[in-house]
Amino acid sequence: MVNITLQMERCKGCGICIANCPKDALAFSNHSNHSGYEYVQVNEETCVKCGTCYIVCPDGVFVFTETITE
Ligand code: SF4
Ligand code: SF4
Repeated sequence: MVNITLQMERCKGCGICIANCPKDALAFSNHSNHSGYEYVQVNEETCVKCGTCYIVCPDGVFVFTETITE
C-alpha cells in the first residue's frame, strides 16, 4: 500500500501541485505553516497516488512510502 504524507513546513503555497493534480485531490488547507504560507491538503478519497504532486512540487513537500503487507 502506498502512503502519501506532506511535510507542511516546506510548502510555499505556490499552488503548482493543485493545478497539476489529475484528480483535483489537492486544495489549500486554510492553515498556515510557521513560515506563513498556506499549505495544501490531500483528499484521501479521491487521490490515486499517481505521484504527479511529488514530481511537480519544487519544495519536496510530498513523501511517498510503501507499506508491505503480507
Ligand atoms: S498523488 Fe496524484 S492524485 Fe494524489 S494528490 Fe498527488 S497528484 Fe493528486
Ligand atoms: S507545489 Fe509544493 S510548495 Fe507548491 S503549493 Fe504544492 S505542496 Fe506547496
